[in-house]
Amino acid sequence: MSALQVLDAHVTYRSRGRGIVHAVAGVDLEVGRGEIVGLVGESGSGKSSLARAVVGLERLAGGQILLDGEPVQPVGWRTRTDVRTQMVFQSPYASLNPRRTVGAQLRDGVPSHVQDPAAEVADLLERVGMPASAAGRYPHQFSGGQRQRIAIARALAPRPEILVADEPVTALDASAQAQVVALLGSLVRDLDVGMLFISHDLALVRHIAHRVGVMYQGELVEQGETERVWREPEHPYTRELIDAVPRLGAARRGEGS
Ligand code: ADP
Ligand code: MG
Repeated sequence: MSALQVLDAHVTYRSRGRGIVHAVAGVDLEVGRGEIVGLVGESGSGKSSLARAVVGLERLAGGQILLDGEPVQPVGWRTRTDVRTQMVFQSPYASLNPRRTVGAQLRDGVPSHVQDPAAEVADLLERVGMPASAAGRYPHQFSGGQRQRIAIARALAPRPEILVADEPVTALDASAQAQVVALLGSLVRDLDVGMLFISHDLALVRHIAHRVGVMYQGELVEQGETERVWREPEHPYTRELIDAVPRLGAARRGEGS
């Protein structure tokens, strides 16, 4: 059984002027342990709404989110108690407080039963390729890539089973992007967590994801093994997305040389 099962998920918003927006309209999706599932689709297709629903930051208007077969209750931001799914945002500042030390913030996420939280914080930092001394410093003392590593450590602190990464490298420069993507890939392997990896960058998703889902106007119009989707897209919209980025890989390689 997959660690995460999203069953017929719906997310709606009431918005002034636009009435009811059906941001996620009946999505079924599974993510297994040690598996990376990519989620692609144009801006406004509902990717972030689905991501927030998976981590309990958004209430479902319908459907279910199951972890190991058990329903995850949607809860509000402030009363959020679910730690089995954790989110990595585009901006590390969405999860890091600029006024508190890195160590204090990581420690907040460490489960209370852990005997030596300071050692756990050092382990978390090491896991994301940061020195233990980072614990005594503040987020602004690090580069964008380092801050995102710290945000990833924060997400890992409660020992989640599922990581949801919403455009986690979009704000980074090319070399930091490659490093953070490689880090996420190795964390998924080493920790046996599952990851939902959201990106508008299809070349990146092709590189990292085992399976991929394509969102279009709130619906998951296609999903499958990444190479299959890439080579033989079944949905016309998937074909459009792929055709829109034909030279991206070549351009990247040129940039790096
Ligand atoms: P994506 O991440 O793919 O760009 P989003 O999930 O952010 O898509 O948005 C999906 C749709 O829901 C869009 O039409 C967006 O305008 C709308 N939406 C997202 N968040 C809200 C909100 N808090 N209130 C009202 N509408 C929203
Ligand atoms: Mg988004």
